[in-house]
Amino acid sequence: MSKTLDQVNVTGLRVLLRADLNVPMHEGKVTDLTRVERLVPTIRELSEKGAKVIVLSHFDRPKGKRVESMSLKPIAEALATVMNKPVAFADDCVGPVAEEAVAKMQNGDILVLENTRFHAGEEENNPEFAAALAKLGDIYVNDAFSASHRAHASVVGIATHLPAFAGRLMQAELHALEQALGTPARPVAAIVAGSKVSTKLDLLANLVAKVDILVIGGAMANTFLAAEGYNVGKSLQEPDLHDTAREIQKAAVVKGCELILPRDVVVAEKFEANAPTKVVKVSEIPSNMMALDVGPATVAAFINRLPEIKTIIWNGPLGAFETKPFDAATNALAQAIALATKEGKIVSVGGGGDTVSALKLAGYHEHMTYLSGAGGAFLEWMEGKVLPGVIALSKDLSNIG
Ligand code: ADP
Ligand code: MG
Repeated sequence: MSKTLDQVNVTGLRVLLRADLNVPMHEGKVTDLTRVERLVPTIRELSEKGAKVIVLSHFDRPKGKRVESMSLKPIAEALATVMNKPVAFADDCVGPVAEEAVAKMQNGDILVLENTRFHAGEEENNPEFAAALAKLGDIYVNDAFSASHRAHASVVGIATHLPAFAGRLMQAELHALEQALGTPARPVAAIVAGSKVSTKLDLLANLVAKVDILVIGGAMANTFLAAEGYNVGKSLQEPDLHDTAREIQKAAVVKGCELILPRDVVVAEKFEANAPTKVVKVSEIPSNMMALDVGPATVAAFINRLPEIKTIIWNGPLGAFETKPFDAATNALAQAIALATKEGKIVSVGGGGDTVSALKLAGYHEHMTYLSGAGGAFLEWMEGKVLPGVIALSKDLSNIG
C-alpha cells in the first residue's frame, strides 16, 4: 500500500507533485478542464498546509526536445484560473531555471515546471534526469494515475530518490479500482464493448477469471457472434479473431463466468446519422446491413439482471454512439446504472477514452460511483497489470511523517 498525504506533515516542504496536465487543447486554449479540476483538491490541500507545491507534468509528444507549441505555460494559466490563485511558471523542469524558481517560493506557493518530455531523459527514465528532478523537492507526490502505466523518470525514477506518497486523486482512483476489481462485492459484472476484440484481448482474458458476469457489446460482439456461426452481414468484425473469441468463451466456462452476448441488434445499410434502422435478432442480420448498436431486448435483459448485481465495471460503448441513433443502448444502460448507483444498490466504476465521452453525451458521467479519466492506464489496470508508477509509490523510503 502506498502512503498518502495523511502520513506526512508537508508544512514548509518542497513537494514535487506529478500531475497529468496532458489536457485537450485547440489553438493554444484548453478545451476540456476536467483533468485540471480533478487536481484541485490535492493542490489546495498541499498549499493550505503550507507546502511549496511544484507541479510536474508531460504534455503531448515533443520527443525529447523543446517544442514551443507543447509548452505547459497556457495550462499553468488555466490552473491559476481554476484555483483562483497565482500560479508561477518556470521555463524548464530541471537545471538553473527550475532551481531558481523553486528557491524563490514561499510556503503555500504553486509553481508549474515546463513539460518533462522536453528532455529525452523523461521517457528513457534516465537516472541523472530523475536525480535532477528529485533535487528540486523534499518529497514526491504522484497524483497522475493516468500517466502511471509509463515507467518514465517523473513517474518512476524520481520515487527512488524521495519519500513518495499518493495524492488525493491517485488515492481515489486506486480505491475505486480496488472496489471494482480487487475485492469487489459480488456478484460483479463487467461490461466490455467498443470496436475491436484485438485491442482488448488481455483485458477480456483477465476479466473472465475475475468477474461473475461478462457482457460483451459493441462491434466486438460481432466478432463473437460470427465466431459462433451467425451471419453478421457487413458489420465491423475481425475474422482473424474467431478462434480467439471461441477460446475466451471456453475460458469463461472453465472459470464459471457467465458470458452474455447480444440477442438482438440495431442494423442499418449505411453508417450515417439518422440512417433508416431496424431491430433484428442476431440470427436474422441481413447480409447487406451492419449491426451498429445492441438491441433493446438485450439491454432490457441485462437491466433485469441488475437487482442481483453488486458491482459493475464498464469499458466500451455498446454501439457506435458518436452517430445517432446508435447511442441508444449505451444511453439506456447508463441511465439504469446511474439509478441503481444513486439508490445505493451497486458500486459502478467506468473508464476508457470513448466510454467517458459516451457517458458525458448521455449525461450520466457524474452518476457513476467512479468514472476514471485515465484511458490507457485504466485499461492496463483492467488487464490485471500493476502500473510501474503505482509500484514505485509502494516502495517505502519514507522516514518523514
Ligand atoms: P474506449 O475508448 O472507451 O476503451 P473503444 O475505443 O474500445 O472504447 O471503442 C469505442 C468505439 O467503438 C467508438 O468509436 C464506437 O463508435 C465504436 N463502436 C461500438 N460499437 C460499434 C459497432 N457496432 N460498429 C462500429 N463501431 C462501434
Ligand atoms: Mg477508444
